[in-house]
Amino acid sequence: MNDYKHILVAIDFTKSADQVLAKARDITQRNNAKLSLLHVVEYMPPVDYANDPMVSNWVINDNEMLEQAKKSMQKFSKQHNLKEVDLNVQFGNPKHVISQFVKDQHCDLVIIGSHGRHGIGLLLGSTAVAVLHAMPCDILTVKLEE
Ligand code: AMP
Repeated sequence: MNDYKHILVAIDFTKSADQVLAKARDITQRNNAKLSLLHVVEYMPPVDYANDPMVSNWVINDNEMLEQAKKSMQKFSKQHNLKEVDLNVQFGNPKHVISQFVKDQHCDLVIIGSHGRHGIGLLLGSTAVAVLHAMPCDILTVKLEE
């Protein structure tokens, strides 16, 4: 089986990320492919751009969130003993960041969990649905236990 060369797995660091990663590692191994992990730190805009004196604090908090997420990615990688895996943390809207990453890095399969923080009780979580509509390549949604 050598259908895929570069597989991207979207990781949200919830408990179910372990299941999503396990599936991704299995498929990567069987395809002898490259594996990339991507976590997106979601952008939360301040309410009032013009008058809010808190705007600069938001920028600092955004940078802190990015640094925190990079540490979480390192920890996740150590916990799972990931070797020769490309680790990425980026800032922005998950749908846009994931689809841009796929185009820039020429990924040919995206693996994503059916549910994460936004999807409890739904058939698919909101990130999974957004990604389904935006991807230029194959997508595998891993059906997660609730
Ligand atoms: P959700 O839409 O939150 O229910 O999440 C569904 C799936 O989208 C998760 O299992 C992850 O694979 C992926 N996902 C959600 N949020 C992120 C994020 N911030 N960065 C990367 N992947 C994410």
